[in-house]
Amino acid sequence: MKERIWIAGPCAAESREQLLTTAKQLVEHANVANIKLHYFRAGAWKMRSAPDSFTGAGDVSLLWLQEVQKSVGVPVCVEVMNFRQVELCAQHDIHAFWIGARTAVNPVEVQQIADAVRHSDFTVMVKNPIVPDLKLWMGNIERFLNADVASVMAIHRGFTDAKENIFRNAPMWQIPIELKVKMPELPILCDPSHLCGQVRWIPEVAQLAMNYGFNGLMTECHSNPSEALSDAEQQMTPKEWAEMISHLDLRSNIANLELVKQRTILENIDNQLSELLYQRMMTVDEIASIKRKDHIAVVQPQQWQQVVKRYQKHTEDTLYQEFLEQFLDLLHQNSIKRQN
Ligand code: PEP
Ligand code: MN
Repeated sequence: MKERIWIAGPCAAESREQLLTTAKQLVEHANVANIKLHYFRAGAWKMRSAPDSFTGAGDVSLLWLQEVQKSVGVPVCVEVMNFRQVELCAQHDIHAFWIGARTAVNPVEVQQIADAVRHSDFTVMVKNPIVPDLKLWMGNIERFLNADVASVMAIHRGFTDAKENIFRNAPMWQIPIELKVKMPELPILCDPSHLCGQVRWIPEVAQLAMNYGFNGLMTECHSNPSEALSDAEQQMTPKEWAEMISHLDLRSNIANLELVKQRTILENIDNQLSELLYQRMMTVDEIASIKRKDHIAVVQPQQWQQVVKRYQKHTEDTLYQEFLEQFLDLLHQNSIKRQN
């Protein structure tokens, strides 16, 4: 495994002071912990869901970032949403940017950006689109590989999921793992900040990404997270960040990528199964209260036969049928018990 890539910095560029202070603190804590900060990130322009949300300090922040890059000595990267912004980056000596998850759903825009950096020394990081569509993600990556830029990396930041989730975005690890299988040479980083949405989950997810053999992390950090103008809940202090990185176990255990991929698929199924079983239990409780109100008997044999039929249609496999019988029996017993 090559050297891991650590990127950190605030969600948004808010002020010159905020950028300089955060970058200096990051470098200080990185030095103490013997970590290299490869890039300082900041969103100069933010694409926000609500129209009255803070959208970053805009064009002027590139001047501040240029100053940070010079005085702190760490390369800067920003999010780029259109080709005009690429031009501005180049004018301010910024040679790295990422494509955000919202821009990533628009291949026309992404192609225009790729055309703007053709044969240049830009490093481009391509975040996954908010929709779980590997083809779309890979297509965007290929646009930059074809454009022959200095370097291309992918960033996994999770996917929008309508279901209630403890994380801000559903990890769906099987998708970045599949990307790894399909593009083994491509470095893939994880952005645990946008994935988790809350600082308290970040170290655990960061470790998981290392176990899966990810090549680094992009983490949101702010010198004073509680005062941040965007994504306050998911920004770490530079001290917390350095502590997290220095405690990561970097021995990834991906001797067999295909096995890892199947495990992440299974993990996803188990998550869904546990959610569905819980929802089933809640629905049983609803049914029980209706039956009680209308004086209907708890056990309805024909009804249960329908349930059994629904389950049995998938396969004739006898071992599976045997398991299913036991499982359904358990389900039925539990259902009756709850209703009584
Ligand atoms: C960001 O990194 O600042 C950002 C907006 O991320 P995403 O596009 O992943 O939501
Ligand atoms: Mn953010």
